[in-house]
Amino acid sequence: MLSTEFLIIGQGLAGSLMAYSLIKRGRSVMVIDNHHSGCATQVAAGLINPITGHRLNITNGFFGYAEKARKLYWQIERDLGCSIYSEIAQTRLIKNAGQAQYLEQRKRQPEYQSLLKDMQNTGAWFTESAEFPHGAIHVSRTAVVDTKPLLYAIQQWLKNRNSFIQTRINYDKLTVINGLFKYSIADLQLNAKSVIFCEGFQAIDNPWLGQLPFKLAKGEILTVRTQQPLDRMLSWGNWLVPFAKNKAKLGSNYIWNDTSPVKTKEAANAFHKSLREFTKLEATTLLHEVGIRPSTKHRQPFVGPLTNLANAYCLNGLGSKGCLVAPHYVEQLCNHLLLKKSLARENTQWL
Ligand SMILES: Cc1cc2nc3c(=O)[nH]c(=O)nc-3n(C[C@H](O)[C@H](O)[C@H](O)COP(=O)(O)OP(=O)(O)OC[C@H]3O[C@@H](n4cnc5c(N)ncnc54)[C@H](O)[C@@H]3O)c2cc1C
Repeated sequence: MLSTEFLIIGQGLAGSLMAYSLIKRGRSVMVIDNHHSGCATQVAAGLINPITGHRLNITNGFFGYAEKARKLYWQIERDLGCSIYSEIAQTRLIKNAGQAQYLEQRKRQPEYQSLLKDMQNTGAWFTESAEFPHGAIHVSRTAVVDTKPLLYAIQQWLKNRNSFIQTRINYDKLTVINGLFKYSIADLQLNAKSVIFCEGFQAIDNPWLGQLPFKLAKGEILTVRTQQPLDRMLSWGNWLVPFAKNKAKLGSNYIWNDTSPVKTKEAANAFHKSLREFTKLEATTLLHEVGIRPSTKHRQPFVGPLTNLANAYCLNGLGSKGCLVAPHYVEQLCNHLLLKKSLARENTQWL
């Protein structure tokens, strides 16, 4: 028999950071994950991008989220000896005259002053060789989380402390007896005081969470070889994010309410066409992947205790900005579990 305080189901970004943070705060944890191929964290570009959308909006709460994210990813790097977080330069290409007008407005707004910097000829191949009819701008405070190595490093760390099991939870077999969760895997009997569900989009199969107002968004993404080494990420609605010499991630699209792990030639062709049109760059596809973003109808994550199952909690709905916001919500949930701090109503009301 194995007893633990917290049983975490799912080791994507949410489950990984939750397990790491609880263990660092002295708690016992067991993580179960089935390494599903549609797992969003396995394929994510890992971008932390202050400015998004056609109108070049700053993500609400960006500066607070970004600070917590940097702190947590740095701590994991130091602690686990892995390399997962890097701050990189971003050049945003302006798509059309309408967006150029938004840019002029944004440049006059005080909160954008520290984020937007006019392009200067840096001597880099990119600024010298490319011409953009509607202009381009540097965006500071951009970072990338290397999500696959992050999952791998946390999983190894958990395995070393006998805190990880690879299997799929069968919800019918998760029972509660005398206030303890019980689950059997082969001849191992697991007892847990609390359960934290972190299954990403697969929560739709969870009998206690299946009713949550998800608005799932499938996304395709390419790993490409570029002809020249890139010294920054480029964004223009799509993005090209370098992660190794002459290698970059190119993406992505949003296909709503489709959870089939099907990749399409059309999507790959559209990414390459858009890359050629906006950046004049050519690239070769090395890998084509697909994942399902656990987005929600009200654009807020689900974080907190379930109302239909005692001592069960949820951390889900991280949407398309999981790498930015997850560290904040992990901290909130840890503080709730360990210090009884209250959670925001917009995150708990659906649970
Ligand atoms: C194409 C694409 C690009 C993206 N790019 C970015 C980006 O640039 N920046 C950013 O911040 N975010 C990005 N995202 C979003 C980001 O990936 C998500 O916000 C985040 O990874 C969600 O993490 P999660 O842990 O909630 O879910 P997931 O990553 O899906 O993890 C859930 C885990 O639970 C496991 N699981 C589920 N059910 C069970 C079960 N019954 N038993 C055992 N295990 C189970 C799964 O196998 C999986 O490992 C992107 C997503 C996609 C698809």
